[in-house]
Amino acid sequence: MQLLDGKLVSQAVRDDLRSKVAVRLQQGRKVPHLAAILIGNNGASETYVSSKVRSCEEIGFRSTLIRLPDDISEEALLFHIDECNQDFDIDGILVQLPLPKHISEQKVIEGIFVGKDVDGFHPESVGRMVQGLPAFLPATPYGILLLLEHYRIETKGKHAVIIGRSNIVGRPISILLNRNDYPGNCTVTVCHSHTPNLKDICLQADIIVAALGRPAFLTGDMVREGAVVIDVGITRVPDSSKKSGFSIRGDVDFETVAPRCSHITPVPGGVGPMTIAALLMNTWQACIAKD
Ligand code: NAD
Repeated sequence: MQLLDGKLVSQAVRDDLRSKVAVRLQQGRKVPHLAAILIGNNGASETYVSSKVRSCEEIGFRSTLIRLPDDISEEALLFHIDECNQDFDIDGILVQLPLPKHISEQKVIEGIFVGKDVDGFHPESVGRMVQGLPAFLPATPYGILLLLEHYRIETKGKHAVIIGRSNIVGRPISILLNRNDYPGNCTVTVCHSHTPNLKDICLQADIIVAALGRPAFLTGDMVREGAVVIDVGITRVPDSSKKSGFSIRGDVDFETVAPRCSHITPVPGGVGPMTIAALLMNTWQACIAKD
């Protein structure tokens, strides 16, 4: 069994971007600039956004963190997004989800200029991705592709089973693994909360992507010998031994699944760091597209 080390691969992506940014600076060109909008005080969102902003700074990108109160109106939020759309120096905009209930996620996503949609959630970005046109790929699925690519995992002709069909993970990774490219050319089965016989389906999989948000859901008896298992899940579970009072659990029961796999991502240190690497890649692309 080989670990798919997201920390290591993410570091390689960052190192590469850092040297490319240094070259741009030498040439007197603008450096990539990410604007992150954070609404309210959700602990997990704060952690994600600060990690994204810190990652930008570490590799020489500019970043602007816009903090807004959770009672901000939808109109005022859209105004802030539009200011970022109009600001030539800003290359990428991300609005950290989830949003307060009174704000329409769809309107906010559609408010971001497609050329700055580095999260890849805009319907036009999604449509382009589905048709195989150049597009910003959503960060988590893109990060998974980068990981598969780095470890040269064979995907052609394989049966990939995706557990979860969300717009940010399950559905896009199902489309990307199914495309006529590498990584891709899989036969894909997408499972969800109404799928019967999930265990039987998983037992037919060469590649399993678990993205449902239920700690340790996928157990060893659901995985066939030699499968590649990608664990997307991040759930905070109470843990009194930690200073923070919680630890992070994936959707895969690592203890029972790992011995059966050819490759598996750990949690933490697997898909999480790759998501940030992919966001940085998208922001880089958004910047150089303006050259
Ligand atoms: P979501 O809640 O939007 O979607 C969950 C999906 O799982 C749904 O499609 C649902 O039908 C399916 N599902 C739920 N219970 C199921 C069951 N018992 N059997 C089969 N399918 C079931 O979640 P999401 O936003 O896609 O996130 C999934 C997990 O991935 C969460 O733990 C989230 O925190 C994590 N996540 C991690 C990263 C990362 O960077 N590592 C990024 C995004 C999300």
